[in-house]
Order: sequence, then C-alpha cells, then structure tokens
Amino acid sequence: MNFEPHSLLQPAPHTNLATPITVAYGDGIGPEIMVATLRILTAAGARIAPEQIDIGEKIYLAGNSAGIEDSAWESLRRTKVFLKAPITTPSGGGYKSLNVTVRKTLGLYANVRPCVSYAPFVQTLHPKMDLVIVRENEEDLYAGIEHRQTDEVFQCLKLITRPGCEKIVRYAFEYAKNNGRKKVTCMIKDNIMKMTDGLFTSVFEEIGAQYPDIQRDRFIIDIGAAKLATRPEMFDVIVTPNLYGDILSDIAAEMTGSVGLAGSANIGEHVAMFEAIHGSAPDIAGKDLANPSGLLLGAVMMLVHIGQHDVAAKIHNAWLATLEAGIQTADVLHSKDGRAVGTAAFADEVISRLGQTPKQFKPVTYAESKPAQPVAAAAPLYTRAAPMKKALVGVDIFLHARPLSPEYLAQLLHSPTQQQSAVKLQMITNRGVKVWPHGFAETFCTDHWRCRFVATHSEGTISQHDIVALLAALTEAGLDVIKTENLCTFDGQRGFALGQGQ
Ligand code: NAD
Repeated sequence: MNFEPHSLLQPAPHTNLATPITVAYGDGIGPEIMVATLRILTAAGARIAPEQIDIGEKIYLAGNSAGIEDSAWESLRRTKVFLKAPITTPSGGGYKSLNVTVRKTLGLYANVRPCVSYAPFVQTLHPKMDLVIVRENEEDLYAGIEHRQTDEVFQCLKLITRPGCEKIVRYAFEYAKNNGRKKVTCMIKDNIMKMTDGLFTSVFEEIGAQYPDIQRDRFIIDIGAAKLATRPEMFDVIVTPNLYGDILSDIAAEMTGSVGLAGSANIGEHVAMFEAIHGSAPDIAGKDLANPSGLLLGAVMMLVHIGQHDVAAKIHNAWLATLEAGIQTADVLHSKDGRAVGTAAFADEVISRLGQTPKQFKPVTYAESKPAQPVAAAAPLYTRAAPMKKALVGVDIFLHARPLSPEYLAQLLHSPTQQQSAVKLQMITNRGVKVWPHGFAETFCTDHWRCRFVATHSEGTISQHDIVALLAALTEAGLDVIKTENLCTFDGQRGFALGQGQ
C-alpha cells in the first residue's frame, strides 16, 4: 500500500496563520495512522504547516545509531511542536531507543496519558474509567546507564533526582488544577527503594500540600497497579516515575478496550511532542488494520497545546460520534451492532462527522481548559536550594571474585585494610544481603561483592586520599575492584542505605 505521506504536507490555506509543526511518519503502522490523522486534521481546518523529518528504522539501518539526523533536530528545535508516529527500535546491535533520546534531549519531562473508557460503544470491563497518568519521562532506570560488572552480574542505574521529582509532581498538580481533576495519586515502591522512590514520595507530599483543593493519596506500585486493574474508577490523576508509568499506562489503555485508543503528550519547557502510546505494531503494518485513534487523540492534545481549541473539539467530537455510530477498527471489542473498518475508512468516517457532536457521550469543549503547557509560568518548576554540608564517612568497594566463603574474603581484605589506619571493614554484602559478619550459609552468593569500609573512629570522616590508598592496597593484594561508591552524609543525614540484615 502506498501512503504518499509527502502529498499531505501542503501548507495550510492561511499560511500566515498556520503553526509550523514537525511531523515524523515513523515505522510499521506509523505511516498509515499518520496519513489518516493528517487527513482528518486537514479536513477539520487545522491551521498547521507540517514539515516532515525522517527518523527511526531507516536512519538506524543507514548507520546512524541514534536514529535521528542533525537536520531533524534543527526542525524540532525551530518548530517546538512534534507530531510523531511510532517507530521501531531494531533489536540487538546496541541501538538506543530514539523515543527515549528525543524525550531526554529536548527535556520533555512530563508524559501525559489520558485513559478513558468509551462504553457501551467500546467493550470494556471498566465502563467508568476516566484517568490520566502523568509519567516522569527523563530519568529512573531509563537513564540507560548499564554495565556488565562481572561474569554473572549486570547493572542498570536507577537515577531519581530532586529536580526531576519536583518538575513532574508540580506538573501533575497543575494539570489537575487546570483540568478540573479532583485527586492526584502517587504510585511508588518506597518501602523497598527508600532513598530513590522515598525522595519521590516526600516531594509529592511537599508539593501536594501547596494544592489544598486537590486530594492526594499514595499506593505502593504493586497494590496500586492491582487496584488500577480492578477498580480504575478510584483514580483521577496518577503521578509516577518513568518505568512504573510506562507499564501502568499500557495496562490502563488496554483496559479501555485497546492500546490503540490512547494518545499521549510529552511536555517540556521548550518543546512538546504528541504521539500514540502504542508502538509500531509490525505484526499488522501495511494491512490497513491499525487503529489511528491513539495518534489522532495525541494530535488533538497538540491542537490544544498550540491554542487551536476549536479544531481540537471539532475533531474530538466527530471521533466520539464515529464511536457512537458503532464504527471501529478490528483491535477494539465491538458492541453487538458495531461495524469493523480499516484505517483509511475509519478516517473517512470521522471526516464525514466533522461538525457533529456526540449524542450519548458528553460533547468535548476545550475553550475553558488550559493548554497542556509547562507550568513554569504559574510556579517555578524547581528552585535550587543552598548547597548541603557533605561529609565523606566511608566507601563501598565492589569486587569481582568467584563465589567463595565470605569469611575467607574478609581474611583476604584483612591485610590490605590493616595498612590503612583511617578505615575499617564494616560488612560484606552479596546482591545487597549481608554475608559478613554473621552471614547465613543458606544465602546464595554470586561473583559480585560489596565491601563496606567506614571511618575507623565512629562519627569520623575519611578523605579521598584514604580511598585511593585503600584501592591501591586492594589492587596490590590482587583483588579485582570493579567500582566504588562514596558513603556521605548530607547535613548530617545518612546518604546511603544499610545492607539487608545489617
Ligand atoms: P506495539 O504497541 O507496537 O504492539 C503491541 C500489540 O498491540 C500488537 O499486537 C499490535 O498489533 C497491537 N497494536 C498496537 N497499536 C495498535 C493500533 N494502533 N491498532 C491496532 N492494534 C495495535 O508494541 P510492541 O510490539 O512491543 O513493539 C513494536 C515496536 O514498537 C518495537 O520496535 C518497539 O520498540 C516500538 N515501540 C515504539 C514506541 C514509540 O514509538 N512511541 C512505543 C512502544 C514501542
């Protein structure tokens, strides 16, 4: 099937009024759903001047491991508005996810994913679902900092920052305030990750307290996800770190009837990107089967963002009227008298209803709602506090050593440690569990040992030179040091977790 995407990139009739936007047709089903979406936007009179960039599989396979060329970055930084179809990240070969690269490079810190049920026209077990997931978009495990450290152990760093937490939590509360939402729920795993997820929780409480008109509650992510899957009507706005948000939003979108139904906005201080939440669905690509609704609703969010509320509402209402007429793509569970159509015919059906309003769904108006823009104008996203008083009180040294008795390892460490008067060995852990002193024979050990050295004098500090001297002594003793982590206090508060069992 030939989609001729370029033919759609004519400037809008009133070029002087048209907002330049950057468009990428993507991979897999991307071109089909982008063509359908742009046809609807054009028919609805969207005042946009799209310019096309090529990103994704074609660029990766041409040898650009980032999947995006300089000219594409130039367009994005100039138009500051990006409508993007899904792309395929080739598996293997070390290709970095372009989606993650674009979000992080352009500072698109907030990923906003509304998930709404359209019962009875789209079958779902959860007819009353109407929630928005606000997912942190730049950090967490998606920092992509991974290492192989030993034969047996691989590591992925989970980075959670105070600016990152403040920006996303503030965005979630501002979003709730501006969109008539009543409650913001934080989903987190701070019972286990007390420092990283714990920071997210405390920022949620701090910032949430500044919004007394909006309720707030918190769930540990596992039970929270279970509640979401069974009682989604409990939730209004959910704010959560990157990985949890990625998983939750696919579950939530699928619960509404199809992952193909949900659109998404990626909002930054300078640039915003709009897309469907799903991927490039290579299994149905080129078959005219794909549901264009997710990308279309992403485009509706884009129109709101660029101030074209009238066109956004016209399209959204025509789309709802199309659902009410029982017209659906094949991925959606139909009502009994529904009719399945292909991607292109679905777009025609929406176009034929432009100007209509739905009869059973509440018609959408966007005039009152504020654009999904950054909140910097309303409240500072992040104010950097004065530097804290930092004291170096020890060091964790990670060693690669074939599984051996922890007592024997402690003996191996004894002699080089004796040469250092400033530090003493406090404990050894394996995969975070204390195995020395007083470990259990039942604990499984791998070839990755964390040896914690602390100041010899309690309450004392050590210097960087002490660490360097210790590293030299360990290396001299033939031990394979793979990394170190400094142990610090910040304004007297411990800045490191205890070992499990410590
Ligand atoms: P996917 O979302 O592409 O597909 C999952 C399932 O949902 C498939 O069965 C697919 O047919 C179906 N589906 C998805 N969108 C649909 C639509 N609009 N209409 C009908 N059915 C639809 O997830 P995947 O298969 O895990 O990933 C495929 C590729 O997409 C991978 O290369 C992945 O990296 C990429 N991906 C891209 C994005 C993005 O560009 N934002 C997001 C997620 C995945």
